Amino acid sequence: MNDYKPWQTHQLMNQVDELSDYRPLASDLPLREALQRGGGSAFEPRLSAYADRLGAAESYALAAQANRHTPELQSFDARGRRIDRVDFHPSWHRLMAMVRAEDLIAMPFREGHVGRWSAWAAGFYLHGQLEAGTLCPATMTQAAIPVLQKEPVLWAQLKDRLLSTDYDERDLPLAQKRSIWLGMGMTEKQGGSDVRANTTLATPVGQGGRGAEYALRGHKWFFSAPMCDAHLVVAKTADGGPSCFFVPRWRPDGTKNAVQIQRLKSKVGNRSNSSSEVEFQDAYGLLMGEPGRGIPTIIEMAGYTRLNCVVGSAAMLRQALVQALHYARHRQAFGRLLIEQPLMRSVLCDLALESEAAVALMMRLAQAFEQQAEPSQRAWMRMLTPAAKFWVCKRGVELTGEAMEVLGGNGYVDEGVMARLFREAPVNSIWEGSGNVMCLDVLRAIAREPQALEVLLDERAPNLGDEARLQVALAQLRALLSLPPAELEGLGRQLAARLVLLAQAALLRQHAPGFVAEAFVATRFSASNLWGAVSGLADVRGLQVEAILQRAFPH
Ligand SMILES: Cc1cc2nc3c(=O)[nH]c(=O)nc-3n(C[C@H](O)[C@H](O)[C@H](O)COP(=O)(O)OP(=O)(O)OC[C@H]3O[C@@H](n4cnc5c(N)ncnc54)[C@H](O)[C@@H]3O)c2cc1C
Repeated sequence: MNDYKPWQTHQLMNQVDELSDYRPLASDLPLREALQRGGGSAFEPRLSAYADRLGAAESYALAAQANRHTPELQSFDARGRRIDRVDFHPSWHRLMAMVRAEDLIAMPFREGHVGRWSAWAAGFYLHGQLEAGTLCPATMTQAAIPVLQKEPVLWAQLKDRLLSTDYDERDLPLAQKRSIWLGMGMTEKQGGSDVRANTTLATPVGQGGRGAEYALRGHKWFFSAPMCDAHLVVAKTADGGPSCFFVPRWRPDGTKNAVQIQRLKSKVGNRSNSSSEVEFQDAYGLLMGEPGRGIPTIIEMAGYTRLNCVVGSAAMLRQALVQALHYARHRQAFGRLLIEQPLMRSVLCDLALESEAAVALMMRLAQAFEQQAEPSQRAWMRMLTPAAKFWVCKRGVELTGEAMEVLGGNGYVDEGVMARLFREAPVNSIWEGSGNVMCLDVLRAIAREPQALEVLLDERAPNLGDEARLQVALAQLRALLSLPPAELEGLGRQLAARLVLLAQAALLRQHAPGFVAEAFVATRFSASNLWGAVSGLADVRGLQVEAILQRAFPH
């Protein structure tokens, strides 16, 4: 008999392992329903198989390793030749290969597959619950596709490698690769939000013009995933404003391009992914679009990357929620399970509602991207992408902290999923346009296309119509909109938040069970509820809390 006792002084009890070896899609009813609404049911078996793989303990171990063994920069080889190479732990490559093999980059751009955007969003959301760092190069590669499609010569060269589901980690010239990754370089030391402040200069090598070669001289202060095979870089031409350039890691003549990695950023989170500072020393670049028209190109890309931030933050919210629910269902305090404690139930109910509302919104946005040819869908895309990027990413920052607290001290130790989510969450709110910049973008969109907002509000009207609390909120939104622009600017966050909350309420009223929709409206829109400052403030008496928690993650 084995009488080995690890502890001489006590018995180990009431400790709860973190959730793994579970079925992330099978246990996510709100996601499955939204997938069906978005026409993506045909993708469900494949997504389900992938989700089961993601939920396995082995995958959780991969994610932990990729974030513990962080990327390392090798500037030179052993004999002093400059190589500017970033080395990664094998776990990173395995996770990247999973993203690629599941088609989580190019799936939405495969024409003819109805529901492809919903299926992609669901897959991205499932992957993001396991590991968020890999979403960065996936996002940038995906967002580059619609922009490159407008450059026929480049597109013809790159198409097959961009659409490939194969993972090729080798550092080789484009022509020798089976598949490629793309990054984006905008942000410089003197300013990131204001791309017009860029100083990097692009000088034509010959005649110049669309598709022609330029030499880029300058720097980027944030340049993520520098091991990508190419970056889309903003630089100024002498005669115009910012332009967009395709800057590969290798020149066509087979030599290394002059993109020197100065150092890797030491980051709060997002540790599996490498982010760097670079200098362009007359780097080779091809002009994309017309000279001086780089901003519209970047804005187009940003539309896609911002959706990905919404999906990524909704994923973090979901993973934080299920980890918290799992813990609360097994951990006891004061003689009862945490889940049985009324105050804990208020907190968990709030988290569950926030998560379901985030999923409903993200999946609705994905649908709008698929149907963007229709004006009402374009209105959704244009107004609600930046508003959702602001709101869902911000909620992610707060609620990953709240979910961490459900685990008490265990939540705060670095070995767990919670700490990783908490460190990761703020970056989605910062990059691709920080919170305020998103709200200003909503204001800009409304000023430019006031009719699009009306389309949006009209479309939602049937789902708000008979609900007095939402009618009051709608009137408050309209009152804000009637303010002079200078006054409204300072209220940009309030406007974006109101827009999102109304959209979420309408979506839940239309699609979720009545007890979820009622709880969302009662907690977010009742004058008597002190909701918003921190989670769990709202009065949940009279709401079907158990049904909400069971729906969120069946026990
Ligand atoms: C981990 C990481 C990776 C990144 N990777 C990349 C990358 O690969 N490529 C890339 O190009 N960039 C990248 N970025 C940069 C990121 O996109 C910028 O940090 C971001 O856009 C903000 O720019 P900034 O840091 O210069 O801040 P600033 O532009 O100086 O803004 C500072 C603050 O002021 C606010 N603000 C700005 N203007 C206004 C205004 N008019 N009114 C009110 N508030 C305002 C902003 O919202 C922000 O909160 C990365 C950043 C991080 C953290």
